[in-house]
Amino acid sequence: TYIVNDSCIKCKYTDCVEVCPVDCFYEGENMLVIHPDECIDCGVCEPECPADAIRPDTEPGLEKWLEINTKFASIW
Ligand code: SF4
Repeated sequence: TYIVNDSCIKCKYTDCVEVCPVDCFYEGENMLVIHPDECIDCGVCEPECPADAIRPDTEPGLEKWLEINTKFASIW
């Protein structure tokens, strides 16, 4: 899955939401999040993010953000 990290905070762009083929972006507390079970790993959103906030969860050090994405995506 892909996840959104804190570079998204206060970002007003939603280019990522528009390109996602499965609509798995959700509104978090102060940033967007990706639902990890709905994301199909297509990678289309990553280059669309002007804040460079979307990363594959295989990158080291993103465990905390995976938790936050899971938490807020599941609330809705
Ligand atoms: Fe949506 Fe694809 Fe991005 Fe996953 S990787 S959030 S499916 S655009």
